Amino acid sequence: MKPLLRDIVPDDWPNLMTARGEPAYRGRQLAHWLFRQSEWSLETMTNLPASLRERLAEDWDPTGLEVVERKVAADGTRKFLFRLRDAQTVESVIIPMENHATFCISSQVGCAMACRFCATARGGLVRGLSPGEIVEQVQRLAADLVDNPFPQHGDRGFNVVFMGMGEPLDNYPAVRTALDIFTAPEGLGLSVRRVQLSTSAPPHGLVHLDALDLPVGLTISLGGSDDAARRKVMPVSGKASVTEALDAAERFARRSGRRVTVAWVLIDGSTDQLEQAENLARLTANRPFKVNLIPLNELDDDDLAATGSERILAFQRVLADAGVPAFIRVSGGRDIGAACGQLRRRRQGRVDEIAPPSS
Ligand code: SF4
Repeated sequence: MKPLLRDIVPDDWPNLMTARGEPAYRGRQLAHWLFRQSEWSLETMTNLPASLRERLAEDWDPTGLEVVERKVAADGTRKFLFRLRDAQTVESVIIPMENHATFCISSQVGCAMACRFCATARGGLVRGLSPGEIVEQVQRLAADLVDNPFPQHGDRGFNVVFMGMGEPLDNYPAVRTALDIFTAPEGLGLSVRRVQLSTSAPPHGLVHLDALDLPVGLTISLGGSDDAARRKVMPVSGKASVTEALDAAERFARRSGRRVTVAWVLIDGSTDQLEQAENLARLTANRPFKVNLIPLNELDDDDLAATGSERILAFQRVLADAGVPAFIRVSGGRDIGAACGQLRRRRQGRVDEIAPPSS
């Protein structure tokens, strides 16, 4: 596969153009088309000479994603299945919030982390996405939001969260470049405060986390309040201990000046035991953390069940009593399988039954 034009940060385009014997300003023009205008075709970049467009097309692809499915849930959540140029697929979701939209994007095709509660984990890792494939998800979702705005949003724009398929810190170089493109004024011009990285905190990911110098929002998923419990639920990421994961998260919180969210998936009879709540409270109290309690999104081929509401509230009470801010989060779009990896798995099972969208 050729690289994508969007794999390159806007600041690098002027130099790339001069290296090809073109004036530097051509690079700025191209970056403007790609990132500010969200233009998909070289043909329509009419202020670039036709000969330059032809030469660019020999070495680069202008787009890497095609929408093959778009589903809208009763609560307004929109889920997209994108086909990549090598016929792999990834998912992205638009979630309507009170005053803005949240874009949930993928960083990899599949995932190597094997978390017990996750549909994406089932097929293992196929490959990491390139920076352009990550950036294009956001631009495709933004275009959809322009065409079909949520009436309640006004012009509050969108946030981007890396909570789709893949472990972002397992594809760090591409994710880091994508973050630069998101936040560059000549890129998507997104405030860094509107970007959230969500990680299962694998050992090699913690090394990248310590190097991350952008004050993005950070969510860290623990899976258990002691090392054995964490490894049971998150066998790969759990090779990093609970202490290592939380210490790295705290270092990042102090560096970024932003409280880190600890995501806790509540699985009936497993992660919802009050003893775990007490341990979690001890681990997070008086530290720059808040806890999000997330009832399991049940999968159709697994016997893990979501925790009942009484137990969820009891779990939350233990944390609150210890002074830990704890919130219950219910994911939207359950009627369309919005949990990460579900749409892709269903499609892999019956490829011919799903028609592409009409628009
Ligand atoms: S929860 Fe995230 S890190 Fe774990 S397997 Fe799923 S995609 Fe990978």
